[in-house]
Amino acid sequence: MAQDVSRRTIMAAAAAVPLATAAATALPRPVLAAAPAPEAQAPGFYRFKVGSFVVTTVNDGQFARPNPAEGFVRNASPEAVRAALEEAMMPTDALTIPINFTVVHAGGRVILFDSGTGGQLAPSAANGARNLQAAGIDPASVDLIVFSHFHGDHIAGLTTREGQAIYPNAEIAVPEAEWAHWMDDGVMSRAPENARGGFQLARAKFGPYASRVRRYGDGAELAPGIRAISAHGHTPGHTVFHVADGNQQLLVLCDTTNHPALFVRNPTWAAVFDMDADMAAQSRRRILDRAAADRAMVIGYHFPFPAAGRIRARGDGFDFVPAPWSSAL
Ligand SMILES: [Zn+2]
Repeated sequence: MAQDVSRRTIMAAAAAVPLATAAATALPRPVLAAAPAPEAQAPGFYRFKVGSFVVTTVNDGQFARPNPAEGFVRNASPEAVRAALEEAMMPTDALTIPINFTVVHAGGRVILFDSGTGGQLAPSAANGARNLQAAGIDPASVDLIVFSHFHGDHIAGLTTREGQAIYPNAEIAVPEAEWAHWMDDGVMSRAPENARGGFQLARAKFGPYASRVRRYGDGAELAPGIRAISAHGHTPGHTVFHVADGNQQLLVLCDTTNHPALFVRNPTWAAVFDMDADMAAQSRRRILDRAAADRAMVIGYHFPFPAAGRIRARGDGFDFVPAPWSSAL
């Protein structure tokens, strides 16, 4: 009580001190070395649970696509693309395309879904290894890597630039139809000269793992609770994944769509990367319909980090509804 009284007395006294006096008696500002402003983004990994499974999305950085209204969407006018970007309150002069891969700890197994760029495609897309480490995930602990398709931003991270395997203990699971396309020497030899890089990259990346590659088909159970769902079109064997435990489920959408503001919103639009645009659009509609109907959690490889949320039907298309960041796992 005495303390209370004295504090109140002091406060009253302080309030009574004229401003000029207060300024004169203020402590001098301590002299500190200027603290440098941070120069890098915070580590990019995010976790949530699906039943007893722990899902971690890992950011690998981003690509910049200049002038996305011209030539990025094959079947939409520049005006329509600009309008979609404006509706999403995004810049219209450049599109940031995020890259995120996913790790699932499921029943004692550590499963990686696609492997990122390995820092080999663009300086702005080279965060995967660092963020995996920040998430406390040792590449040696990964015992299965499941691939959705063989585009470079999904497979380059399987080895170093020099061709050394990065995941010493991982079994590799690849879509049958994807392997059949990219690993066929005949298909490669008939491809135009400037389109052979993708075939060569697949050989370079899977070569060091040759004895550990298994091929899977539509509906295959890749691990308990994890199933393949064919979603061909983006590439000949593009596949998405259903992850379920207890009464919870997740769809790992991979490249069912590129940036959601364009292609979740407008599922008939074809990005330049879609190898069979019509088939890709059919797959996209089927997978997004299912995600919306089931209110399933989804992860998109090229969705804004942490790349997790839900799909809601709206008009002729859909919206990506990002999941709120939770401090609790
Ligand atoms: Zn991709």
